[in-house]
Amino acid sequence: MEDGIEPIVIIGAGPAGLACAWRLAELGFSPLLLEKHTFPRDKVCGDALSGKVVALLRKLGGTALVEDLLRQPFALPVEALDFIDKGGRRVRLHFPPKQGLPQGFVAPRYAWDAWLVRHLPSAVRLRTGSTVTHLQREGTLWRITLSEGPPILTRFVVGADGVASRVAPWVWRYHRLERPPVYPAVRGYAPEPPPAALELHFRPPYLPGYQWTFPTATPGVNIGIGLPDWAAKRQKLSLRQHLQAQYPTLTQIKGHGIPVSLRYRPITGPACALVGDAAALTDPFTGEGIGNALLSGIRLAEALARVPEKDWAAADWEALYSRPLYRELAHELRLTRWLHYVARSNTAVRTLIGLLAKYPSLSAPLLRWYGAT
Ligand SMILES: Cc1cc2nc3c(=O)[nH]c(=O)nc-3n(C[C@H](O)[C@H](O)[C@H](O)COP(=O)(O)OP(=O)(O)OC[C@H]3O[C@@H](n4cnc5c(N)ncnc54)[C@H](O)[C@@H]3O)c2cc1C
Repeated sequence: MEDGIEPIVIIGAGPAGLACAWRLAELGFSPLLLEKHTFPRDKVCGDALSGKVVALLRKLGGTALVEDLLRQPFALPVEALDFIDKGGRRVRLHFPPKQGLPQGFVAPRYAWDAWLVRHLPSAVRLRTGSTVTHLQREGTLWRITLSEGPPILTRFVVGADGVASRVAPWVWRYHRLERPPVYPAVRGYAPEPPPAALELHFRPPYLPGYQWTFPTATPGVNIGIGLPDWAAKRQKLSLRQHLQAQYPTLTQIKGHGIPVSLRYRPITGPACALVGDAAALTDPFTGEGIGNALLSGIRLAEALARVPEKDWAAADWEALYSRPLYRELAHELRLTRWLHYVARSNTAVRTLIGLLAKYPSLSAPLLRWYGAT
């Protein structure tokens, strides 16, 4: 750090901020990572880690990192995903272990995020208990105000601060864009017998959303509901009450927004960029966001490493990061947006599940197309 100016400050130490900091450290930087909580801290989530997450963990920490996750008592390996329709018909998509390692886990975020923090490279300077309250552009620098302590000046800001990001509104205003849609979702835990696979129940009144039941290592289940805001309003649903009424043994029932990716939007501004939920990169069909949080963090770090620090203020981050990231996700986003549209209709859901049941060979390319295996 020269003249009291930080080269890079990352706000938020969820999967997106951690991956960005981790990759930057590998590329020779020593980023400052600000997090308002101390670890372990909870994050409302279904806790499912897809094949994409496992592949990206391998990219960050090699096979040893995934082997270490496998040894953790909180992490449950999973090998299949069940789509279930209103009538209870079920189709199972398999993702068996690859080279001896699982391609999916369920791991409570309370423990998983803290585990990831423990593995961070030593060059990352994590400062917990630091809440960012304000952000201001001053010439070619950013001034970051915290709830306590002196402000921080930096050349580049990464907004990794999730759905209620402080950085994202600045970027949307800069591009005169509306805030992206945020879908409501609620989850709880129960000491019920865990199912053999991740279960996604696509049925009214949640369509095009769904109710999930995921096994946990405790053993028990993580049960939740997520659906578009307009569908929740139309059905006049209180997700919390709906869940509690169906599953009286549920505890820790909490809600959180899911910012979804329905179309291309620039996720950068002058010397700043968004990653993960702050960038609204969550899959609208499944609500899965950890994979894209890790991927966007990694890709932003790689883009930063390609530009000399003295040129960061004037660089075209949309060309360097936003557009290439969306190009990389293009297949997956096309499919997920289509499935999200189709899932509005119960008949279409039943037809799709029927097709997958009749032609099981379709499931492997579907998972691959989705980036899940
Ligand atoms: C109910 C529900 C179920 C879900 N289920 C799944 C699932 O099963 N699988 C899956 O892949 N995805 C799931 N998701 C989505 C997933 O949780 C998110 O996509 C993912 O957590 C995004 O990671 P992130 O790092 O961008 O943000 P977050 O995980 O939200 O992390 C943001 C971090 O920033 C910190 N922060 C926020 N504001 C500030 C501030 N002002 N100053 C400093 N720090 C700050 C926060 O404390 C937090 O640590 C689910 C989401 C919900 C709501």
